[in-house]
Amino acid sequence: MKQQENMSSLIMIFGATGDLAIRKLFPSLYRLFERGRLNKFAVIGVARRQITNDAFQKSVRESVINALGDKENIDEFISYFYYQSHDVTNSSSYVALRNLADQIDANYSLEGNRIFYLAMAPEFFGPIALHLKSDGLTEVKGFKRLVIEKPFGKSLESAKELNQQIRTAFSEEEIYRIDHYLGKEMVRNIEVIRFANAIFEPLWNNRYISNIQITSSEVLGVEERGRYYETSGALRDMVQNHIMQMVALLAMEPPIRLTTDEVRSEKVRVFRSLRRFESSEIKDYFVRGQYGPGTVNDEQVPEYRAEPMVDKESNTETFVAGKIMIDNFRWAGVPFYIRTGKRMKSKSTKIVVQFKDIPMNLYYQPEKNVHPNLLVIHIQPEEGITLHLNAKKAGGHLDAQEVKLSFANTGIQAMNTPEGYEKLLYDCLRGDATNFTHWDEVAYSWAFVDKISEVWEKTKTVDFPNYESGTIGPKAADELLEKDGFFWWPVSYLEVDMCK
Ligand code: NAD
Repeated sequence: MKQQENMSSLIMIFGATGDLAIRKLFPSLYRLFERGRLNKFAVIGVARRQITNDAFQKSVRESVINALGDKENIDEFISYFYYQSHDVTNSSSYVALRNLADQIDANYSLEGNRIFYLAMAPEFFGPIALHLKSDGLTEVKGFKRLVIEKPFGKSLESAKELNQQIRTAFSEEEIYRIDHYLGKEMVRNIEVIRFANAIFEPLWNNRYISNIQITSSEVLGVEERGRYYETSGALRDMVQNHIMQMVALLAMEPPIRLTTDEVRSEKVRVFRSLRRFESSEIKDYFVRGQYGPGTVNDEQVPEYRAEPMVDKESNTETFVAGKIMIDNFRWAGVPFYIRTGKRMKSKSTKIVVQFKDIPMNLYYQPEKNVHPNLLVIHIQPEEGITLHLNAKKAGGHLDAQEVKLSFANTGIQAMNTPEGYEKLLYDCLRGDATNFTHWDEVAYSWAFVDKISEVWEKTKTVDFPNYESGTIGPKAADELLEKDGFFWWPVSYLEVDMCK
């Protein structure tokens, strides 16, 4: 892994008065500071609002205290923060920004290292990158890195256009495309569980695994994000990036080394092996849903179409289930079922690896004849793994019963921020891009998802809303697995009282 000892850097956050900066970035930077992981640094917050340095520092202080409680060294921390009011569409303000950046760079001896973090609406990504180059902000003697939030385009075509714009100012190695799932502790753990255990890797293929299920469900509805969500939907918002990244980590071959290039190229090989469906086949492999009204946590909630800034006749999907096939030697014939949705029964992200049944069941089990072995990876809110085994029932004859062996990740919680932004920022400071998405990954997964959205856009659904808020999604999602003789393992069944 390419890592740098010298991590001094000027961090410029575009969109520094926005929700992401306030809720995630400032607390994450503080955590790095507190742990001594920010050696030499300074931050310039950039946003449209006209505020003073003092007012900006006050907002950083509040953001940290709200997220992490009172902190003794908070005054020192906020002293590294500067603010520049700046309209990113206006060329003249980049000159002022460059002057401020050069001055701060010199004052703090930051050696010309710069991280540009774009925490802004995606339509600004391309223009900002172009201005950074044309107005000289990227002419530095140290490193320059661009951190870019999702969404990376809305389709392969728009992603290509955006990529061309940012590539005029930054090389592929300098671009850190955030997928915050790759900052989550248990998502990072997938490759360790797979490649560091002799009991899993030999079984990790179509001879022993019958299917893999990935569920990422939310209780919240679309909230205030109606305007954005209407142009996105669950397919683009969740599947193209987070879910496909989890599929790649579960399916990839062991990399020959843990370098950024090797890990990414194995993931790309998975994307290249994805089965491409004909338009006429999409309905057999993918299901979409939209939430209707219902009860969530004992409260009545409205349907999606009644949410703010949502079209009253919207055909945007708030739920997707799908069956993904990976046509390579290891995975031929093994379905990867995926499911994600809003306003569902529980907030939960889990992966279930279901092993094939043993050839013959010798032991009587009261409730089921055969209980398959499951490996459950709990991504959030709880973090850990559970292995479902069969063992002899105590005292009985030779009756078998299911036992669940659990490991909870609480021991290293101190290192674990809710969204993983701390880890991703730290990776970026060290120059380790392994847990960011390479352009090839983005392009392949857009090509895959575009095919589905094209069909869905042409064939408007008539039955929306088709699932009640507070449930597990439309019935068609269950039928998708029933056709293959499987069923979704209920989240409630997979939840365990993890040993602390
Ligand atoms: P936001 O609307 O809360 O903040 C936008 C920021 O951009 C503000 O600081 C605003 O001043 C600034 N801005 C807008 N127009 C400007 C202009 N012309 N010139 C200068 N500054 C301008 O947005 P957000 O929720 O913080 O999201 C930012 C990005 O992060 C988006 O791409 C979003 O998709 C992504 N993202 C956000 C979250 C989250 O939790 N908020 C999570 C994942 C990804």
